[in-house]
Amino acid sequence: MITVKSQAQIEAMRESGRIAGGALLAAKAALKAGMTTAELDKVVYDYIVSQGATPSFLGYSGFPASACISVNDEVIHGIPDDRVLKEGDIVSIDVGACKGGFHGDCADTFPVGNISDEAQRLITVTRRSFYDGIAVYEPGKRVGDISAAIQASIEKAGYSVVREYVGHGIGSHLHEDPDVPNYGKPGRGPRLYANMTIAIEPMVCLKARDIYVGKNNWTVKTRDGSLSAHYENTVLLTETGVEILTPHD
Ligand code: MG
Repeated sequence: MITVKSQAQIEAMRESGRIAGGALLAAKAALKAGMTTAELDKVVYDYIVSQGATPSFLGYSGFPASACISVNDEVIHGIPDDRVLKEGDIVSIDVGACKGGFHGDCADTFPVGNISDEAQRLITVTRRSFYDGIAVYEPGKRVGDISAAIQASIEKAGYSVVREYVGHGIGSHLHEDPDVPNYGKPGRGPRLYANMTIAIEPMVCLKARDIYVGKNNWTVKTRDGSLSAHYENTVLLTETGVEILTPHD
């Protein structure tokens, strides 16, 4: 069931979204070569708790941390641990915060020091595909319109789109209807209207889009070992466009 949010619920989502975006910025500011992904996760946890919120991911389906931290060929759902980040890595960080019973969810991919031009272009294309996706929204458009715009943006750059994981509605639950795939056809799928809240999150592979789930039963990796990037915001659909609820750029 797709829910349309009340003004009070939207206000709560602005607050939880602000906190999720802030947690991502805190992690970005702390990120440096030589630190572990567990240390980065601690930064996210501390920020979210300092804002009177709770980390949405901690304990979600048994996930053991506050942030998903996925390095290089890891696509999503990386579990923070004692892995040491090094110069040239790219690090995708996905965070969720819950306050007042509502969630915010966002992600971005950051460089560790100097990275290759190829890695930087992947990050740039992934972020841009999100903006190309939201640009086509207007009330009454369908999910497939956004999906197709994201896919076109990524594929014209020569990269591939992960199919098995998708964006989603969000609100009092971290994952709500509708699914928001990063591929699809214009004019297909549920219609979108003002006061719906969705998380749009392209996951992009530098080469083939084939993925697998690693031995920890969480971490999703590219089959060919090539780089992957992720970009996400929770957005409010309005009468005139899209309001980003998790600002972190
Ligand atoms: Mg999400």
